[in-house]
Amino acid sequence: MPKKKKAKKSVCGAELYIGDDYGDGLATICCQLDEGHDGPHQEIFKRNDTDVVIKWEIDEREICEVCGRFVSSPQVFWCANLDCMKTICTDCAIKGKKRKFRYYCSEECMKAVESEGKSKK
Ligand SMILES: [Zn+2]
Ligand SMILES: [Zn+2]
Ligand SMILES: [Zn+2]
Repeated sequence: MPKKKKAKKSVCGAELYIGDDYGDGLATICCQLDEGHDGPHQEIFKRNDTDVVIKWEIDEREICEVCGRFVSSPQVFWCANLDCMKTICTDCAIKGKKRKFRYYCSEECMKAVESEGKSKK
């Protein structure tokens, strides 16, 4: 398990993703409460001088299976090795050498997939 770096005052940072009505994007709601808080996650923002409070229960972030960190959903990759398909963050993803735009959790997975492709024609 990787060591947890802890800042003195850290926020929870749990995220919620909601599609916008027009379908052209994704809004990310981010919990502003202290890390380890009780009860639902919460973000408050101001709209016309009134507070809008959003509360939700489930953190929708993924956990990178390589480094164990939380990853925001838009930044998640899955290992392109179909036998593996680990969740990986942008930092841990290894870009395919032969097949760019494919990402792997490890060199082994990349080799497994890319050497397989060689024998097939
Ligand atoms: Zn929270
Ligand atoms: Zn990672
Ligand atoms: Zn993998």
